[in-house]
Amino acid sequence: MDQVKRICILGGGTAGWMTAAALSNKFKGLGFEITLIESNEIGTVGVGEATLPHIRFFNSALGLDEKFVMKSTNATFKLGIEFCDWGKIGDSYIHPFGDYGLPMPDTEFHQLWLREKAERGAPRLDEYSYSVMAAEKGKFHFPGDDTTQIGSNFGYAYQFDSSLYAKLLRSYSENNHVRRIEGKVVETHLNAESGYVKSLSLENGAQIEADIFVDCSGFRGVLIEQALETGYEDWSRWLPCNRAYAVQSESRGELLPYTRATARKAGWQWRIPLQHRTGNGHVYCSDFISDEDALHQLMSTLEGPALTDPKKLFFKTGRRNAFWSKNVVAIGLSAGFLEPLESTSIHLIQEGITNLVELFPSGEIDEYDIREYNDRMELNFDRVRDFLLLHYVATQRDDSEMWRYFRNLELPESLTEKMEAWQKRGYVIPYEHGVFLPPSWISVMLGQNLEPKSFDQRVNKIPQEELSNLLRSIHTQTHQKIHQAPAHAAFLAEYVKGVHVAQDNAAGS
Ligand SMILES: Cc1cc2nc3c(=O)[nH]c(=O)nc-3n(C[C@H](O)[C@H](O)[C@H](O)COP(=O)(O)OP(=O)(O)OC[C@H]3O[C@@H](n4cnc5c(N)ncnc54)[C@H](O)[C@@H]3O)c2cc1C
Repeated sequence: MDQVKRICILGGGTAGWMTAAALSNKFKGLGFEITLIESNEIGTVGVGEATLPHIRFFNSALGLDEKFVMKSTNATFKLGIEFCDWGKIGDSYIHPFGDYGLPMPDTEFHQLWLREKAERGAPRLDEYSYSVMAAEKGKFHFPGDDTTQIGSNFGYAYQFDSSLYAKLLRSYSENNHVRRIEGKVVETHLNAESGYVKSLSLENGAQIEADIFVDCSGFRGVLIEQALETGYEDWSRWLPCNRAYAVQSESRGELLPYTRATARKAGWQWRIPLQHRTGNGHVYCSDFISDEDALHQLMSTLEGPALTDPKKLFFKTGRRNAFWSKNVVAIGLSAGFLEPLESTSIHLIQEGITNLVELFPSGEIDEYDIREYNDRMELNFDRVRDFLLLHYVATQRDDSEMWRYFRNLELPESLTEKMEAWQKRGYVIPYEHGVFLPPSWISVMLGQNLEPKSFDQRVNKIPQEELSNLLRSIHTQTHQKIHQAPAHAAFLAEYVKGVHVAQDNAAGS
């Protein structure tokens, strides 16, 4: 094969249209032909409303205006995730998209706080986090430019209607000359010699040829699995939840700038506030609860009347043995699935796209690029897995069969090391790759009562009075800034006021 110029994306869910939008933007004017095939009859998974801050960079790289995206997708701002009942029943903490305190010259801020707490007592670490405090008070404003200042060292994401997001990216892609074909792929033809995918046959008899295929066909993995039989690494022993019910309900109460994840006896429940409705779901493990009870758990705890029938979803946690195999790259649910506890799926789609663009073949498809791509994506998946598992094992809960199951579980070594380093002296082993930075780990470990025994000795260089004054000053400044910030709902309404959105991409669908 010569130069890779014909790209075929199979699937028109969030993964497919994100891929189409990014490739059509990055390769504009370079003579690529991009085709996307989707089947209305099969449809999309239809969930996935909470995101991570990185999506803002994805949108801005496409040149999309934030106000327009938010209005088009009924989005709200998201400062983090509130975890209820995870450490113990009755506990609650927020995992913020931001730092604690301020950057310190020698060590991290939380180390100063550990010493102060040990020697004189101190308020919660959360009280020094602008984003936790803003979330708790239901406030929002944009971070300032100087990240050494309180009120600037945080990020934010969105909670949005992902089907409207895919719709928006579809019109963006079509304007960038992506050819969309509606139809069902019924057969995949392989090159007898190389094993590469040569073409796809649609139900109506049409044949689609391409040089490279991006498999965004969802859990089916039509190309990566059904055609190439790449295999799946099953992580159910670590993350045993395998089903979910999802339902939309009328909004009630204040419009909160965060997602909520409440631990339950056999899984956990999400609550995602959008401008016009609330998304809800119960993720559970079928070994520990019946479908009927799982559904009852969800429906009996909705804050407002249901707007849709509950949708049941099945999944197996894990990832493909290879994300890129021959001339097929799997992005989205076809690449693997990790439960949505930390809203990581759309982020992993973004990672897949970024790495594909970076490693896109200049001539023939190259084994080195494939290996590099797979190594990077493996690391991303493995690290998300560890972070999710932390929520289930850093806990004192043993009130149900599921929580007792985690008590006896052998953990991945990478997670054990991370937890041990933290418990010894509050150290979070940093990663070169991987989405969650030390503040995220700190929030979950402290939030779930995993306290370090000691702290970084360099903190002892600071005279005690100076340390106490510094902490007091940061605490006061944080609270003053929060006091001045507007309420999230008012800020959002003002921000998207007057933004025009075409009727077919209108809010409220
Ligand atoms: C319970 C649950 C909750 C989730 N919550 C979140 C969240 O809060 N945040 C987050 O980031 N992610 C979340 N996710 C993940 C998120 O939903 C997905 O990552 C995202 O929607 C991408 O899905 P996809 O595009 O890969 O697959 P899909 O949406 O399933 O799309 C697959 C596409 O392939 C097409 N297709 C399949 N087979 C064929 C064929 N033979 N011929 C033609 N077309 C075909 C379909 O028509 C469709 O267009 C959640 C997932 C689940 C299960």
